[in-house]
Amino acid sequence: MKLRKVTAAAAAALVLSLTATACGGDDGDSEDTGSGSGGGDKIKVGIKYDQPGLGLKEPDGSFSGFDVDVATYVAKELGYDADQIEWVETKSADRENALARGDVKMIAATYSITDERKEKVDFAGPYLLAHQDLLVKTDSDITEATDLNSKKLCSVTGSTSAQNVSDKFAPKAQLKEYGTYSECIAGLQSGAVDAVTTDDSILAGFAAQDQYEGQFKLAGLKLSNENYGIGVKKGDTETVDKINKALEKMVSDGAWDTAVKDNFGPANYQNEPAPKIGDIVQ
Ligand code: GLU
Repeated sequence: MKLRKVTAAAAAALVLSLTATACGGDDGDSEDTGSGSGGGDKIKVGIKYDQPGLGLKEPDGSFSGFDVDVATYVAKELGYDADQIEWVETKSADRENALARGDVKMIAATYSITDERKEKVDFAGPYLLAHQDLLVKTDSDITEATDLNSKKLCSVTGSTSAQNVSDKFAPKAQLKEYGTYSECIAGLQSGAVDAVTTDDSILAGFAAQDQYEGQFKLAGLKLSNENYGIGVKKGDTETVDKINKALEKMVSDGAWDTAVKDNFGPANYQNEPAPKIGDIVQ
């Protein structure tokens, strides 16, 4: 009998605390970017919309890719079901500003952790290690970065890929900076550019698309280390800690491996093993 009373009291307390959680922390406004502790109606997550295998908006309006799966897992751990996620396109050059403005709660968009970016945003992770590479036409004789001198090379504004070209491996290439990688790929197909450079994970996804079958090849160069992190607003260390815990769980329970197989398998992308949280490969 006594136990029953305690249970009823506990249940009442639980109801009260749940109500308090639902009402507190945020105003329940569906436009909120997410309370970070669950309880908000929606969480806004920034991804790419045009990168097959990583972040892609499908013709039917659904979303696919490794970043989408990682973000969905993380959101769940933060207290949001998949149907509470509002996906927002965050192109390479928009990411820091989108976080600073509060447009999104977090960004999982092939977003490399760099010291320069860490001055403006905070990162959880890393959750994937990729490398910069070149994509060329199958019959191209470009095999090395040194072959790029005076060639037209496409990359994306605001990416580490574009920056590395001028700073490091191909200062004499004619760099064309577009807004998205899909625009670079269209340029490669039309002959407007001779090569596209960015992370091998992204290039492999494009090369494997049915419409490009047999047209492109990766050079297979590891021109940089790209440690993908999940970006959050500068100072939101509470969310960083929660995301890091979620990422560790995703690796230990096998969901990370499943996401790798589902998303990189079709492109035959040979990914690196899961990185340890905080372990940045320079
Ligand atoms: N991972 C690189 C970066 O964050 C290149 C890919 C991208 O532009 O998203 O800049």
